[in-house]
Amino acid sequence: MRLMIMTDLEGVAGIINFNDYTGSDSRYYELAKRLLTLELNAAIRGFIAGGFTEFFVVDGHGPGAINPELLHERAELFRGHFTPIYPWGLDQGFDALAFVGQHARAGTPNSHLTHTQSCNVLEFTANGFPIGEYGQLALCAKELGIPTIFASGERALCAEAEELTPGVVTVAVKRGVAPDDGYPELTGPEYRQKKTSAIHLSPVTARRRIAAGAEEAARRFAADPESFGYMPLEAPWILTRQMRRTEPDTPLPERTVATDPVSFIRAQNKLFGQKV
Ligand SMILES: [Zn+2]
Repeated sequence: MRLMIMTDLEGVAGIINFNDYTGSDSRYYELAKRLLTLELNAAIRGFIAGGFTEFFVVDGHGPGAINPELLHERAELFRGHFTPIYPWGLDQGFDALAFVGQHARAGTPNSHLTHTQSCNVLEFTANGFPIGEYGQLALCAKELGIPTIFASGERALCAEAEELTPGVVTVAVKRGVAPDDGYPELTGPEYRQKKTSAIHLSPVTARRRIAAGAEEAARRFAADPESFGYMPLEAPWILTRQMRRTEPDTPLPERTVATDPVSFIRAQNKLFGQKV
């Protein structure tokens, strides 16, 4: 049983803010990479206990956030960009897709370190439904007929995942505490500063819960793969990306739109300026 695991940094327990943790020149970046890699390893242990045998790990954080020296020995690590980018190497040779360390989509109330690609994005939609980085890859998997079985990250991401991919096993490792409306009026840099308050699990507890959740997802996948589903979003595809205003009290920039009559993956690559 072969699994793709997409990883990101902002949804990991103990990743406190952008400035000190998520950039390659951040003062706690090595700690941040360690925290992600150990959450990932906990997930892999759970998936192995539940029957998965092969692991293709994608390091999806901008500057890269897996520490290869700590990585579980059963995993292969991918870092870089495919051409075109989506679906990140996912193909029908995989049995399932999982996420570790994921954050919620741009504009989510009560979320932490929230963004879609960057804090400058106000909203990204697929056929009118707002999605984030989770949905951007999960809908590729849907198109390929591959179920999304597990997601760990902040609590708001878990809710997002359960709506888009009903049946997915989620593990929340922290919860944002800003009771906001998504701050649609803010610029990207202003939004970035507003989304840094959260209550975190101890990393040790987070890893224990992640291992248990991954094992549960793997066992249920083996017994009942049909229990993992997707929201009924279907072709034809219209994807939109609305950026935040660049200066306070100025109009919003024009939306970027990409369409495809058949393929979400093709529409997604078009939106990101890829040759398809
Ligand atoms: Zn991300």
